[in-house]
Amino acid sequence: MLVRSLFRCSLAVTRSFIRMSSEDQDGKFQEVVKYNIAEADSEIPTQPAVLDIKLQMTNSSTENKLDPDSIKSDVTSLDKLNQLETRLFKCAAAGNVEEVTSILKIKGANKSVNWKNDRGWTALMLAARNNHVAVVKMLLAEGTDVNIMNSSGQTALDVATFWNNQEIVDLLTGKSRLEERQQFYNFFSQNPLYRASEKRNDKAWLQNVLKLSTTNFVIFSELNAFVTPVKNAGSEKKRSGFNLGLFQYKHLAEILAKKPLVVFLGLETWDPKSVAWFAVDVTGEEENLFKNVHEDGQFIEGFPLALQMMKTDAGIYAEARSILAWHDRYQFCPTCGSSTVVAEAGYKRECENKDCRSRKGIHNTNHPRVDPSMIMLVVSPEGKRCLLGRKKSFPPKMYSCLAGYMEPGESIEAACQREVEEESGIKVGHIEYHSSQPWPFPAVIMLGCIAHAKTDNIKIDPDELEDVRWFTKQDVQSMANRTHPLEFFFPPAQAIAHQLIKTWINPTSNL
Ligand SMILES: [Zn+2]
Repeated sequence: MLVRSLFRCSLAVTRSFIRMSSEDQDGKFQEVVKYNIAEADSEIPTQPAVLDIKLQMTNSSTENKLDPDSIKSDVTSLDKLNQLETRLFKCAAAGNVEEVTSILKIKGANKSVNWKNDRGWTALMLAARNNHVAVVKMLLAEGTDVNIMNSSGQTALDVATFWNNQEIVDLLTGKSRLEERQQFYNFFSQNPLYRASEKRNDKAWLQNVLKLSTTNFVIFSELNAFVTPVKNAGSEKKRSGFNLGLFQYKHLAEILAKKPLVVFLGLETWDPKSVAWFAVDVTGEEENLFKNVHEDGQFIEGFPLALQMMKTDAGIYAEARSILAWHDRYQFCPTCGSSTVVAEAGYKRECENKDCRSRKGIHNTNHPRVDPSMIMLVVSPEGKRCLLGRKKSFPPKMYSCLAGYMEPGESIEAACQREVEEESGIKVGHIEYHSSQPWPFPAVIMLGCIAHAKTDNIKIDPDELEDVRWFTKQDVQSMANRTHPLEFFFPPAQAIAHQLIKTWINPTSNL
């Protein structure tokens, strides 16, 4: 069938695709197709809208008809190529498999399957946008490039995902629905070491591996890690981040002889003969001692510079810094006030008062603490907006997820519901756990959730937040692209807030 003319356009606010057909008195076929105005020239409209298009099938003599056969011999004509492109995009957007197929078969229309319109949209994106599964299947069979991005940086998969066209998402990802949900690994959570807790009480083994030439030491001064720059080959940037500066026993022998705080971090594998890692507190030592080993190294303050670490080193850093910070704060026994000493290779502190209650049984004061906090992306009752707020301390124009500490005796759900209501006045019901992020300043575990709102009216607590607003997916997408009209943006990819927001706007995004 050939789609021919466009009679009427009107706007409406529905995303549904309605297709009706009837036969007129002349035997000509008429179709009324409603589809989104974004069909051919807009990525994510600020206001979803619908174009009503009345399409009429006529015989081949009609003046506007584009007959592929008639241009086969002269497809190099620019006008005809332009007509062909326009026709391809309209048919892909309208779901006309037959005509898309016929256009792709025209000789001379080289690589037409990957043609782009003036906003970088391909036929695949337009079909994905409008949920035309058959067209997508056909284009995939014709070898269309699924990795092409439009001028907004979106692939066809991004487009299909954004508009919840699930069957097309499945086609483009090649995954079954069961496989869709990926495990998220947030920054600071990718520690590759096996912690080997069974070795923490094996003093002979620890003393031996400490002196092995293969053993790695990372060092901290006043909780600042010594790092080395990662030179980014092929880039104009001088560095692309930091690695932990690694030392061997021979570099630190004199310092280790002074019995500084040493923490056994773990092994590189489950094999006890694999490379062991330790963290050493070198506070008070001259930085030059370490620059003699790594001349381009330096101690860096934790936040925000630590966010520039390579991801696996950031995981090791999180373990080391959180434990060293705990030692720094637990010099004295919380139970009786006596001084404490290090035990279990840095994973315990024991009270020196032999009569102290903390020496009888297991007490949490003897072990490194972790403080749970909640961070949640609140989704509006109808699911089309999310709630973001900003504290006065945030960088100007940055909005993020609401967050707060969990209180004693509170469940994740209750903490989430309480924090959201306190900060925004919004009541939330169902809570979905998403992922977590260790935050080693000093030892927080951030529990990331998606919270589903039951109410809509915002009432800000000015003591907690400067502003709280609902944002549409379009708003959030523009914040991600740094094209928001008010220049709003959200935190960088190293923050779990970023991953929660990205999950909401694009549930299959590869983080
Ligand atoms: Zn004590």
